[in-house]
Amino acid sequence: MEIKITRTTSPRPKPEDPTKLGFGTVFTDHMFVMDYDEGQGWHDAEIVPLADLAIHPGAAVFHYGAEVFEGLKAYRTDGGSVQLFRPADNMQRMRDSAERIQLPDFDADFLLSAILKLVELDQDWVPDVPSASLYIRPFEFCTDIDLGLHSIAHAKMMVILSPVGSYLSGGLKPVDILIEDNDVRAVRGGTGYAKCGGNYAAANRAAAKAEQKGFQQVLWLDGVHRQYIEEVGGMNVMFKIGGKIVTPALTGSVLPGITRRSCIQLLKDKGYEVEERLISVEEVMSALEKGEMEEAWGCGTAAVISPIGSFAYQDRQLVVNDRQIGSCAQDLYDTLTGIQWGRREDSYGWIVKVPRN
Ligand SMILES: *Cc1c(COP(=O)(O)O)cnc(C)c1O
Repeated sequence: MEIKITRTTSPRPKPEDPTKLGFGTVFTDHMFVMDYDEGQGWHDAEIVPLADLAIHPGAAVFHYGAEVFEGLKAYRTDGGSVQLFRPADNMQRMRDSAERIQLPDFDADFLLSAILKLVELDQDWVPDVPSASLYIRPFEFCTDIDLGLHSIAHAKMMVILSPVGSYLSGGLKPVDILIEDNDVRAVRGGTGYAKCGGNYAAANRAAAKAEQKGFQQVLWLDGVHRQYIEEVGGMNVMFKIGGKIVTPALTGSVLPGITRRSCIQLLKDKGYEVEERLISVEEVMSALEKGEMEEAWGCGTAAVISPIGSFAYQDRQLVVNDRQIGSCAQDLYDTLTGIQWGRREDSYGWIVKVPRN
């Protein structure tokens, strides 16, 4: 399919001070759009000036949450070129997410080529200051005008771009975590492994409660026993206990993070033993009490690595590693960001270059 390109005639000014960028509030000049109609398939792939959408208020996305999304970044190297990190993995995961919600499937290579074109067109928006990048947000949603519950016949695929600073304003500062013992984010058999908006809506109440109590993130427990660790906020979680790395297994309710996958590979290659298994909240609290918990961190595209400074569960709060960044988390952060920003050799084939125009 051809991608029709309509350039903006009124480009907007770039952020004045890219060192002060927040996350996801500034957008570039263009966006990608394509439509799906049953019988016709995907059609009218276009890059157009970023603009508001006109969508019928009866569209199913507003009522039944039929939406999936992805998140990846474009990084500017010291030499000035622009590159992506494992983008094919994001495309595949988006297909898996769409399948779970029964949104129409799409050609992953085509969507990736559209993203490369869009980033190429808006490449001047990729910040050139440390830790800043261009966040890429592909999303797909149902546009059926129908309040009845039917299979999806119409959908829209879009990609928007947002120059972002480092996700957590404190940088690599360890965060305080509240272990949520009532609300759950996802259940096995549900949509936990899919990157869909509904999972985030389910997380809002616990996140608000944690924030009110002065915590930065929620640690989610499994939906059946409320006993096994799943994720921390919108990130996967890893622990270093007695020299080994332990991370929750992908049981269906945990999002299969690409940062998680990359960390596991890097850790194994650095000689660590990595266990993907069930981890109970008791195991975590008792490892903390006994001083066996050496490090804990969250990992995801937005923050890369987010060290954890303390865990609070019911009426106990225990500190990790004196609230200091551990050497393992620091090493992972340096290696991953080194590869992403092109400062380190990519011996894994994870980097995809954006062509220069
Ligand atoms: C996106 C996401 C992650 C991290 O995935 P990455 O591919 O590493 O960015 C983890 N958990 C949740 C719930 C997510 O939505």
